[in-house]
Amino acid sequence: MAQRSIETIRNLGIIAHIDAGKTTTTERFLFYSGESHKLGEVHDGEATMDFRPDEKERGITISSAAITFYWRECEINLIDTPGHVDFVAEVERSLRVLDGALAIFDAGEGVEPQSETVWHQADRYAVPRICMINKMDKVGADFEASVRSLETRLGARTLPLQIPLGAAETFTGVIDLLQRELVTHDADSRGAKFEVGPVPDEAREACEAARDRLVETLADFSDAIAERYLAGEDIAAADLRPVIRQATLERQVFPVLCGSSLRNIGVQGVLNAVCDYLPSPADLPPVEGHLPGSEEIRRRYPRADDPFSAFLFKVNTKTSADLYYTRIYSGRAKTGEMVLNVRTGKKERLRRILRVHAERGIPQETVEAGDIVALVGLKDCATGDTLCHPDHPVEYEPIRFPDPVVSVAIEPRTSQERERLGNVLARLRREDPTFRQHIDPDTGQTILSGMGELHLEVLLNRMEREFKVQAHVGKPRVSYRETILEEVEAMGEFQRSLGNQTLHGQVTLRLTPEPATRGVRTTQGLREGDVPRELLPKLLESVRGGAEGGGAYGFPLTGVHAHVVKARVLEGKDILAALNAAANKALSHALAQVRSAVLEPIMRMEVRTPEDYLGTVLKHLNTRRALIHETQSLPSHVLIRGTAPLSEMFGFSTELRSLTQGRASFNLEPLDYQPVPDNLADQFTKRRLE
Ligand code: GDP
Ligand code: MG
Repeated sequence: MAQRSIETIRNLGIIAHIDAGKTTTTERFLFYSGESHKLGEVHDGEATMDFRPDEKERGITISSAAITFYWRECEINLIDTPGHVDFVAEVERSLRVLDGALAIFDAGEGVEPQSETVWHQADRYAVPRICMINKMDKVGADFEASVRSLETRLGARTLPLQIPLGAAETFTGVIDLLQRELVTHDADSRGAKFEVGPVPDEAREACEAARDRLVETLADFSDAIAERYLAGEDIAAADLRPVIRQATLERQVFPVLCGSSLRNIGVQGVLNAVCDYLPSPADLPPVEGHLPGSEEIRRRYPRADDPFSAFLFKVNTKTSADLYYTRIYSGRAKTGEMVLNVRTGKKERLRRILRVHAERGIPQETVEAGDIVALVGLKDCATGDTLCHPDHPVEYEPIRFPDPVVSVAIEPRTSQERERLGNVLARLRREDPTFRQHIDPDTGQTILSGMGELHLEVLLNRMEREFKVQAHVGKPRVSYRETILEEVEAMGEFQRSLGNQTLHGQVTLRLTPEPATRGVRTTQGLREGDVPRELLPKLLESVRGGAEGGGAYGFPLTGVHAHVVKARVLEGKDILAALNAAANKALSHALAQVRSAVLEPIMRMEVRTPEDYLGTVLKHLNTRRALIHETQSLPSHVLIRGTAPLSEMFGFSTELRSLTQGRASFNLEPLDYQPVPDNLADQFTKRRLE
């Protein structure tokens, strides 16, 4: 690896429904590439990527660690993404920094609900993808049906590059259509050794038919291929590959491969496809950020000679020194150099730069555009920060996370534990920005909020297990919001004498319902000279803060446009304090007059149940105000899709288990906020506002 080049980097993520085989496949990647010397199996609780105790127990991957390994000429940075949608933030953050993804599907299930969700997230981030139909050895494995489900459920134009030889217990190898070859693996070497041979007679016809379809699809993307195809010419693999690559980068097609990671069949073929068809950082358009504090767009090119810029996407505080996982977008930097953290405005020294491998971190002298590394020794940095060359500032958009929908109160067991609890929570928060914490102003209790029951459960588990903090935890509660139902305008006035000075402020606010806005959007229509210019951003910020702090029912306002119509202050000290106080009064007056509604989180819901229990499950969902949109019969079960208010779904997992003897499963993810129905609105009372 004398000369690294950006063209050989692959920043890769794996997206998959939980249990599709992401961890098992990752283990093979690391084993075959020589990174790990032992093949840890998920069921042994030894998988390299799943390193937290709670993850081992649950067998799910929660943190997105990044690991570097080498395959052929490529340096692959594998960014782990979770399969469970309760950790949607982890998926979002990894999609931000990866350049291409491998989507793994279970050959017996095809497209499953969560893979659908993540697939559409990947669409939003314009991520090129290749697909692997895994578990071809499983009873019920069906390659063609799985490929069809990619087309019908995801609307993806598929491009199978392989077909399986056999299925389920007869699955013995993978036929490569481009080369017309059969690849079989040697069980004794755990698949590390494989043999390439001719396609057996019984599969020749299927291979030719599938290859013909492949070339026909590619003809749509290349005139040269189209001509040769129509002329009936046989086209060599070497001529097809560049066309496949281009169409994949443009997301016109999604190449599909197959195999069985558990039986060590086909995994190397997947790695080859990663190198052949997924983008290097140099294949991507320049990244857009803006000049800090302004709207002006700044572009950075994926080249070492552009100014340095990087995005910090993950903090891991679990290790002896905190690791700041960072994607370098442009330029180059050396160990010991100073870079600017745009958010804090402070310079930070790059004390240590590590390339993280499966079993250790390897210190690096320099980093360059396209790299993903862990920085050590940063002082005041957090997830979502941009680091850049001090003379060439640029700021990348922070990661947008959905609002938390569920919360619990937490109380340390003893007063000695109070401080430790605070420290641990602060640490967990730095790692996971979707986990929030505040003090309830009425009860003084510490409230934790997150993306779902499971999300909070995992965090609380870590707190006890990893950090040994004991605490009383309350029942999970729904995080409500509220909005206004009509436009309202109100004036607030503030006056106070302080010594020989009079503070005086007057603000008129207009609130307008704006359902598409998340939180509160603020604008102002003041005339020049009404208020000192430099105070305006602070005034607007205070209006937004006040409104999001609580409306008529005490819940954060959302879907509201707040416009400062008029403002006046007397010259003197503390003008801002007078203005803010007046704005607060205006807000209170407005909220006291206006009609408001309480909003509750509505979850997207998917339940899978054996046919026998369908009636019972539907009956119970009905009592929980669920709306069923669709029930779909699949070979082994029925899939129910719909929506349900979060408030009704607490305890549903226990109920479902006992109703179906543990044979059904379900998933919830935040969808949006909707008004609570009239008959339930009585439980909420308005605060006294003046
Ligand atoms: P993840 O949740 O996507 O990380 O999936 P895992 O890698 O943890 O795999 C989930 C389960 O499926 C484990 O019990 C694996 O042993 C099993 N599994 C993974 N790959 C295969 C495969 O190719 N064939 C079969 N039959 N089982 C597999
Ligand atoms: Mg896993």
